[in-house]
Amino acid sequence: MSRLGYIRQLQKRWGLRAPKQLLRMMRFHRTPFKTILQNMFESLEEADGKFAFPTIAAVAKMKPDLVHKIIDEGHEVASHGYNHVRYPTLSAKGREEDFALSLQTFQKLGIKIEGFRAPYDGYTPDMPAMLEKYKLVWDGGFGYHAEHREKNHFFQVDLDGTPSNLTYIPLNIWSDDLMIDKRGMGPQAITKTVNQTITDASKTGGVIMFDLHPIRMGQPEFAVCLREITEHAHGLGAWCTTPSNAVKYWKTHKKWKGDSSFCLLLTGDIDNWVFSDYLRRVIWKKQM
Ligand SMILES: [Zn+2]
Repeated sequence: MSRLGYIRQLQKRWGLRAPKQLLRMMRFHRTPFKTILQNMFESLEEADGKFAFPTIAAVAKMKPDLVHKIIDEGHEVASHGYNHVRYPTLSAKGREEDFALSLQTFQKLGIKIEGFRAPYDGYTPDMPAMLEKYKLVWDGGFGYHAEHREKNHFFQVDLDGTPSNLTYIPLNIWSDDLMIDKRGMGPQAITKTVNQTITDASKTGGVIMFDLHPIRMGQPEFAVCLREITEHAHGLGAWCTTPSNAVKYWKTHKKWKGDSSFCLLLTGDIDNWVFSDYLRRVIWKKQM
């Protein structure tokens, strides 16, 4: 069915005008995902920046070529769960099944997974214990919660009196959906906001991580921000690498590579490749 067909069916079904957000996502999805990623790779390469893509495993297996391309370009693929579901709405068993299936799926695709971010940054208090069993290197979503967001360094979670082996990374509040969808910011305002936040973070000597979804940041008008942000961070002495590299290096050396003054981690989740998949997930609530 065409995109407009979906919207019409939606209007019939709800008797409502299709919400603004849908039209926005439909517009973004007019750019093929291959182009979205290409735009990002080019922009990042110009500034020698790395990026991590937490990807829904059910989505990854539909286009393994695109996922392999991410690795070939020197970036990182992480797990974003198997289905894009809110983990707190699942049972403990359901959460673990979804998570384990995501790892299995990537393994079958020949992709090594060392990091995780739960869909919607949705975590339950028992999830660190579950994640610990799977021996990943980093988690990049738990640190979005209000009590961790403002931290300026990696942290461990207490597991019955023992610090977790898994490293948790604070996630900054300035995401692309906040800046573009909610605040209506253009590329210049995004670069300015993120760069200011990075300047502040650089003074701590710690780490700062952003969630900048490819569906928005890979659009031709926004991709340029990735180069501008990375260049700015480099100018301040940042190490702009992948979370895996950063966490492993820090664990061994207790400093940043090349004596960089701080660490910038750019990440962005891949939730779906095409608009119809997005619609199936948000409208018909079919698991995607
Ligand atoms: Zn997501």
